[in-house]
Amino acid sequence: MNVQVAGVLYGSTVNGPGRRNVLHLQGCTLGCRGCFNPGTHDAAAGRRQTLDEVVGALVPKGSEAPAITISGGEPFQQLPALVALLRRLRECGVDSIVVFSGYAMEELQAMPGSGAALAEIDVLIAGRYVATEATGLGLCASANQRAHLLTHRHTLEELQLGESAAVEITILPDGNVVMSGFPSPAIRRAIAALDS
Ligand code: SF4
Repeated sequence: MNVQVAGVLYGSTVNGPGRRNVLHLQGCTLGCRGCFNPGTHDAAAGRRQTLDEVVGALVPKGSEAPAITISGGEPFQQLPALVALLRRLRECGVDSIVVFSGYAMEELQAMPGSGAALAEIDVLIAGRYVATEATGLGLCASANQRAHLLTHRHTLEELQLGESAAVEITILPDGNVVMSGFPSPAIRRAIAALDS
């Protein structure tokens, strides 16, 4: 089983409750205007990795299983790989999984095979990003998006949905700058200038 990966971030604090390792999957056809991650749209870009490689990158051997967030691209556009990955993460002892999807819950429930993925997710943030409904608040970046608690692992309070959107900027060892979270357009322009 292979997974098309855009990148991995370690120890993020802006992609769900607490400190989390974050997997960005590659490929999304939903085309939201103002998408924060246009570089993740092309399904042929990024890197193709085996499930073992992805799990090994997210859950380093010998360390306590971290909390995990899976984002995009669109995770549900790699549904068989997503299901396999979620199950492997649970086998490794991961007890907190947040997934961001551009599909609304009703769309996911109508998607054949999605139930196996939903069964392994603690918190699903669902819905297209609609720039004209941007909230400036954390996790649900536009007002139409919904946070679904699919297990009892987390509470709505822990998600801090009413808090101002946080932004995290990571400078990688190779000098590339990675931005995560829910930045305003002005912050995105400033970071793009930094990275050019
Ligand atoms: S679903 Fe997410 S990755 Fe896809 S276009 Fe919309 S905001 Fe971007």
